Amino acid sequence: MKRFLRLLPIIFSSMMLLSCREKTPEIPNPFFESVWTTPFGVPPFDSIRTEHFLPAFERGMSLHNEEIAAIVENPDAPTFENTVLAYDNAGKMLRRAELVFGMLAESNSTPQMQAVEEEAMPLLTAHADEIRMNERLFDRIRQVHDRCDSTLLTPEQMRLTEKIYDEFVRSGALLDKEGKKRLKEINGELARLSVRYGSNLLAETDGFRLELKVEQLDGVPSTVRDAARDRAREAGLNDKTYLFTLHKPSMLPFLTYAKDRKLREELYTAYLNRCNHDDANDNKALVNDFIRLRTEKAHLLGYDTYADYVISEQMARTPKAVYALLDEIWTPALDRAKEELAEMEKLFKADEPEGTFESWDWWYYAEKVRRRDYSLDDEAVRPYFTLDNVQGGIFFLANRLYGITFRPIVAPLYHPDCRVYEVLDEDESHLGVIYFDYYVREGKSGGAWCGNFTEQTYENGERVAPVVGVVTNYARPTRNAPTLLNIDETKTLFHEFGHALHDLFRQVEYRGLSDVEGDFVELPSQVMENWAMEPEMLEQYALHYRTSDRIPTSLMQKIKRSAQFNQGFEMTELLAAALSDLDIHSIKEYEPLDVNAFEREVLYDRRGLIPQIEPRYRYPYFSHIFDGGYSAGYYFYIWAQVLDKDAYAAFSETGDIFNKKVARAFREKLLARGGEADGMTLYRAFRGADPDKTALLKAAGFWKEPADSLQTDSAAVRRLPATKEYWRKRAQGMLDKSGNLK
Ligand SMILES: [Zn+2]
Repeated sequence: MKRFLRLLPIIFSSMMLLSCREKTPEIPNPFFESVWTTPFGVPPFDSIRTEHFLPAFERGMSLHNEEIAAIVENPDAPTFENTVLAYDNAGKMLRRAELVFGMLAESNSTPQMQAVEEEAMPLLTAHADEIRMNERLFDRIRQVHDRCDSTLLTPEQMRLTEKIYDEFVRSGALLDKEGKKRLKEINGELARLSVRYGSNLLAETDGFRLELKVEQLDGVPSTVRDAARDRAREAGLNDKTYLFTLHKPSMLPFLTYAKDRKLREELYTAYLNRCNHDDANDNKALVNDFIRLRTEKAHLLGYDTYADYVISEQMARTPKAVYALLDEIWTPALDRAKEELAEMEKLFKADEPEGTFESWDWWYYAEKVRRRDYSLDDEAVRPYFTLDNVQGGIFFLANRLYGITFRPIVAPLYHPDCRVYEVLDEDESHLGVIYFDYYVREGKSGGAWCGNFTEQTYENGERVAPVVGVVTNYARPTRNAPTLLNIDETKTLFHEFGHALHDLFRQVEYRGLSDVEGDFVELPSQVMENWAMEPEMLEQYALHYRTSDRIPTSLMQKIKRSAQFNQGFEMTELLAAALSDLDIHSIKEYEPLDVNAFEREVLYDRRGLIPQIEPRYRYPYFSHIFDGGYSAGYYFYIWAQVLDKDAYAAFSETGDIFNKKVARAFREKLLARGGEADGMTLYRAFRGADPDKTALLKAAGFWKEPADSLQTDSAAVRRLPATKEYWRKRAQGMLDKSGNLK
């Protein structure tokens, strides 16, 4: 839901299109102007038209090609300035058009914008490939790299050279002809596999329907029933039918409320077995192909495993470091999940004295526990969290921590809903501009994100301030009430605002050093969520929209307590997925494998996962790692949680969550530096130590004092029963729910 918009990767071109496509636009194309004369140089949204983008991309690509040609043709020996820096500076016009396009394509999509995207994507991708495979360009970069000398270059210049060099090498620039050819084949194969994997999964997910009558809906609340009836109508079923599907927004409410255990089992089992039926949609053979090809690719590029290849450019650096972290959280999370299970089993036994608690029972009994122990009513919370209150909250927080202020300005808007502010630093100097685009509307993608319209750069030694945008999908105000947010929606704004601050504070000299590693990206955003529900913050911004009364203490306490509800389960299923991803990508020599048996072996036999919990994704439908960008990277989510909790502890440990000194260090040593150093170096500079997972364990409620947990924990894990044989039989449907042979 929350995602950070990684804009179209820098993508570039081929020149021949220019002649056949460029027409004289009726309104001058704003992307052809070198400077925008709007307030603070924001994009001139009032004069940007959809038809401006393609000509802008085309001219941008052609200019970029000219710049690259000038580097390659330079008769002088390659230097940092005439090669690495020139490469880093090239393509500015293209990038400017891409940034604006990327943002508008998400928030103001139209069929015309989609048509531009479809036409532009292949051209831009081909342009990027052409540059990466330019051997003469790489040869110059390599010469600078090989002579890279810390007596001549600054640490940032060394890092930029290293980064660009690595980028080419990771794309195969050092391979011989044979190797390059093979790498291209593998990449093409992998791309085709992704498409097939994704379409099989789509077909399986859409292909299952649980059609129910009203008498089968015992326990299901009316809002869930209404949605199921609407779904049935849209599917052309009669109006007495209620339809549930394998999409999570449909499945999870059913698993949470439906009293009929058989139906819960039917739905969840169908979900777990997607693309696992040995038929045309089965993905198990494709998973084998992925692992075979990815392992070969890793070997070709000089890595032992695919996980080594991926993680070598992340903050964690090595799979070993990731395992060390995941393994450490595993035991306390699993212990907590077992306690949660024990609590639920008491309720379960009252309903089913003879039965065995199964994975499809978890949501149903967790909800019972939640209602009993953590009663927190969304509707009681919302009146204190108007959108304006929450925006006031994030501004207050940024001011308390960093001294910055926000001043509404008049500037071109890309939609009348937008609000726009100038951001002023503590000394009133200009830091940047921020757009907020809050309300749900047609043509806007779902979820929430933050991105740049223009980036922070340096021009002739002067910092050029960025223009950033925060986009959400909140409900519009009604005639009777302003927009009222729930706790998740409130935290979302804190989160996206954290990304925005990262962009606004950035003071990076070279464009190629602005990006951070994949497992570092969510630190600046997630850390902000920690403040959202602190009493000191709530007192400031959570005021009832009618009475202006402060949020009552009892409600604050309930909010705090409920944050730990069901965390054992949530962390365990997340960790299980992260570990199964890492395990399968850590295979050194590929041999055909039974992917289900592999999963059971690594999670249940080796690590003692309890049969009542399934990993969040199983291989046949783990699209993050097979047709998404998270292969060997599903751990990012957990890694970032460790960082954000530990970073927040730096504030809370001082007894003052608004500690300005810590805030200054966080800003100067970490946020402002973008990717000028690797994530771990930046983190250590801020924290004076490596990230410690203790803060995460405490926040999730897993923390136990070391003395009583060290030995018993690991012993408890190994005691678990599940054997390979058990799982094989169960997977084959040979066992009944109690584990006995059918
Ligand atoms: Zn994010």
